[in-house]
Amino acid sequence: MNTLRDKLAFWYTVALSVAIFALGAGLYFDRKQSIPAELDKRLSEEVAFAQNWLTESQRILGRITRAGGLSGDSSPTLNDDVAAYFEGFRDYLVVAGRNERILYASEAVRSLGPAQIDALTAPLRTHPGAETGGTAVISGMEPGMRYRVAPVSGAGGEVTSVLVATRAENVEYGPYELLRSLMVLGPLFLVLASGLGWLLAGRALAPLDPMLDEIESITGGTDLHRRLAVPFSRDELHRMAVSTNNMLERLEGSFGTLRQFTADASHELKTPLQVLRAGIERALKHQGLPPDAIEGLDEALAQVNQMGEMVESLLTLARADEGKVELAVERTDLQALVQEVSETAHILAEQKKIKMLTRITGPDLFLEVDKGRIKQMLMNMVTNAIKYTPTGGEVKFDLVGRDHDLVFEVRDTGLGISPEDLPRIFDRFWRGDVARTRTGERAGAGLGLAITKWIAEAHEGRIEATSKQGRGSSFVVTLPRKSGTPAAS
Ligand code: ADP
Repeated sequence: MNTLRDKLAFWYTVALSVAIFALGAGLYFDRKQSIPAELDKRLSEEVAFAQNWLTESQRILGRITRAGGLSGDSSPTLNDDVAAYFEGFRDYLVVAGRNERILYASEAVRSLGPAQIDALTAPLRTHPGAETGGTAVISGMEPGMRYRVAPVSGAGGEVTSVLVATRAENVEYGPYELLRSLMVLGPLFLVLASGLGWLLAGRALAPLDPMLDEIESITGGTDLHRRLAVPFSRDELHRMAVSTNNMLERLEGSFGTLRQFTADASHELKTPLQVLRAGIERALKHQGLPPDAIEGLDEALAQVNQMGEMVESLLTLARADEGKVELAVERTDLQALVQEVSETAHILAEQKKIKMLTRITGPDLFLEVDKGRIKQMLMNMVTNAIKYTPTGGEVKFDLVGRDHDLVFEVRDTGLGISPEDLPRIFDRFWRGDVARTRTGERAGAGLGLAITKWIAEAHEGRIEATSKQGRGSSFVVTLPRKSGTPAAS
């Protein structure tokens, strides 16, 4: 459940399950409570109906009983015509006469056993001539019978009362049926509703994906001019897009000011540094300077040169950010360029007793590039390799021409870079702990790899670094051949 959509759908399903459960429980208890009342109402209506039928029949016929009881003796029984009307009766119906004698029993009653009939008609005996009702407990007929007894007057002397009963569970849609339906339909409904919830959550959050893609693609200061598409709906997503755009605008402003300041400051520093360098060089030309003065001036010159390089790098990066650096692209023999860099590198490597191996392979090593920038890039890679490799180590410098691209690789057996540091080495001014604490090396400013990356990308190429701490590092720059034409062509 990593996405907001999954989480929303999940909580929606949980909320729905609770709601369905609460609704089911509510309905169940409501049905359970209201069913006896409903049954009693029905029984009362049936009793009134039976009373009416009996009295009306008596009024019309004059006599509604005849001799010849249910048991075949001479005791009275209900007239056949009158009884016929009760035959279609679904519930249990008993018409009682004097001494609680049964004058008529409906088909449902006749299907009971003698003990059950006895238990059903017990209220006639316990409350003779009274109007009453309740639940009769009858074996084999759980959960019992709801019954109603009422006296009948005006139906001749023989008929005294009528009893109507029905099974307590005998309702069209009782609580148990409801529970069963809920158990079957509930999970089906839940699956359907959660699927629907998932779709709806997806629909509601759909505008978020392109926004996130856009935000994720804003990776550097140069992308800050981009803005999110603002959805029409005036909801939270609209607000988020507007707020993010406002934030991007403020960031763009701040970055612009910073960039401008860096560009202005480095530009302003260039001239005084040149004047300073010229002054030191002139001073060094004086004859008869004491050795410690020469040493001091040499050191000052080295520092001024380094500062000049740093200012130059800063200016390059600030201009690159503004898109103002023009590449002086020309057809360049990269084999010759690599050899040139390699010669300088050999001298540096020799001083540190590092073995330097250069290898050039592949066809057509010409490419349209800014020769100066590519040389700067290769020098950065090679000098770093030598700088961060201890005496006795090895640096390999390869140029491989392939069909669609050219690959420069600089591999060393040096200190390596920790996995935590590796993603940060191309950041401006970032320097590893070793680089900062090492003495005896010319201190860098942490701008070399930032420039190297910019040069590779300005040529539509890419740079990748891999490293194993204590074992060495490898930097690979891949430059595509223009318009994708293979070397062979
Ligand atoms: P610096 O001027 O400090 O060399 P870079 O931008 O060239 O600045 O490099 C940034 C950091 O990356 C360095 O400080 C160093 O920690 C690390 N680094 C670069 N190249 C290598 C390498 N070949 N071996 C080990 N660490 C390296």
